[in-house]
Amino acid sequence: MNDSSVGAVRPSATRTTDFDAIVIGAGISGMFMLYRLRELGLTTRVFEAGSDVGGTWYWNRYPGARFDSESWTYGYSFSNELLQEWDWKEQFSPQPDTLAYLNHLADKFDLRRDMQFCSRVKCAAWDEAKTAWTVTLEDGNRANSTFLFTAMGVLSTPTLPKIAGRESFAGQAYHPGLWPHTPVDFTGKRVGIIGTGATAIQAIPEIAKTAKQLTVFQRRPNWAAPLHNAKISKSEMEELESRYDEIYAHCRTTVTSFIHNADPRATFDVSPQEREAFWEKLYAEPGFGIWVGNFRDSYIYEKANAELSAFVARKIRGRVKDPKVAELLIPKDHGFGTRRVPLESSYFEAYNRDNVLLVDVIKDQPIECITPKGVKTAKQEYEFDILIYATGFDGVTGAFDRIDFRGADGVRLKDVWLDGQPRTFLGMLAERFPNLLMVLGPHTARGNVPHAIEHCVEWQTGLVGFMLEHGYNRVEPKPEHVAEWTKTVLKISEPLFGSESRFVANGS
Ligand SMILES: Cc1cc2nc3c(=O)[nH]c(=O)nc-3n(C[C@H](O)[C@H](O)[C@H](O)COP(=O)(O)OP(=O)(O)OC[C@H]3O[C@@H](n4cnc5c(N)ncnc54)[C@H](O)[C@@H]3O)c2cc1C
Repeated sequence: MNDSSVGAVRPSATRTTDFDAIVIGAGISGMFMLYRLRELGLTTRVFEAGSDVGGTWYWNRYPGARFDSESWTYGYSFSNELLQEWDWKEQFSPQPDTLAYLNHLADKFDLRRDMQFCSRVKCAAWDEAKTAWTVTLEDGNRANSTFLFTAMGVLSTPTLPKIAGRESFAGQAYHPGLWPHTPVDFTGKRVGIIGTGATAIQAIPEIAKTAKQLTVFQRRPNWAAPLHNAKISKSEMEELESRYDEIYAHCRTTVTSFIHNADPRATFDVSPQEREAFWEKLYAEPGFGIWVGNFRDSYIYEKANAELSAFVARKIRGRVKDPKVAELLIPKDHGFGTRRVPLESSYFEAYNRDNVLLVDVIKDQPIECITPKGVKTAKQEYEFDILIYATGFDGVTGAFDRIDFRGADGVRLKDVWLDGQPRTFLGMLAERFPNLLMVLGPHTARGNVPHAIEHCVEWQTGLVGFMLEHGYNRVEPKPEHVAEWTKTVLKISEPLFGSESRFVANGS
């Protein structure tokens, strides 16, 4: 389960180089940050752990990996030329096409000449006397810079299950976020997949098509709704290209930067028949409409959420032939939409196939261990040729935790962000960490992510531009502003997380 990119040439002796700015990560955030920093005239180096650009779309090559965002709303909006010359092939782009798009961008703007691949950052320390960061790579090489930008992604640190015996498995084992660069052949293979989150929901229907047997180990189900993907014809693409200004302007007005926006009506403003018809319409439409285009009170009023959850539960029951399996796939511990809703393509129908088995590892058969042959539960041992750990990511702060950040007076970020609780100003700056700017850091909004990235990059390069213009070389947020922002973010999220268990589908 290594990045198959290994094989980069590394210098034999360690050395230190100086730059105006260092960016960690060459995904969508890091690429755009580099573009803008160059415009400011800063010498910049991007350090990237992978062997090329793309971030999420470089790492996640698993079968079925694709956007939940409409492709034509996901691309960068900063270059009209880029918008006009790139043709998306599908409404929800598959991973290879998205990676091709990002490679095209890197070529077009010649970004790679300021990037260093196979270079994982391990430490970053602030030197007050030099007003500079020193960044140390895994191989011991160092670089100094006045500004340090983190563009490390919110879902870039894969987590593996903590199950005894994992290392002993003798077959092939994969994590979706560390997928090999050569396709994995499932034909005639016995495959086990642990986890039923967003990546598993995309991968399961694809793997089921060719595997001899696919066994899915589920801890807790996720709500999911149909993606309804389709090809984009040449004329449709031309029409989209002619409307980009309007599309992006519209996305800027929606809460999540998707094309969808909440319906102004409340759930119980309309008759049960109208409600049902509205939900049927949303369920039949492509994309996140069923989630973020729903009645405005869907996620803040328990009764409304219970009705919506019951509707989606009925849909699942209608799609899964075995009623027991259907019940297992319907979440009972949180309401529809109170967490990110993965979009799926025939996910529920996959369980109607003879070669797919769902195993409930909470109530029915807890996993005891992984063995050389497969997975041993409380009831039996399942033998596999291939095991997939679809166990997700150490989200948001995971990439920060993997780097030893030292701020003013050597203070550790881990000690300032006690118990994994980040403290930020605008999600972009951290107290006692001067000149550290976080793109898509903790406490920033996400939604349709590239929009949030462009906002962060524009704000941060605007700040740096201001500093250069006015002769400042150091920026750090005031503690009271960090406290206020952190408190605000926690307060906003309280009703959702604090009452999560109350949003339960009644299943009726
Ligand atoms: C499977 C999947 C599907 C997704 N689908 C959507 C979608 O449909 N719509 C949407 O809006 N968002 C989606 N996302 C979120 C997606 O992550 C963002 O859209 C976007 O790609 C984030 O870009 P980024 O550059 O901020 O981070 P990333 O793309 O994660 O890039 C971060 C880069 O930083 C590098 N890095 C991290 N730590 C270090 C280090 N210590 N040293 C060196 N390099 C480091 C990583 O290797 C990585 O390449 C999806 C995410 C996943 C995992």
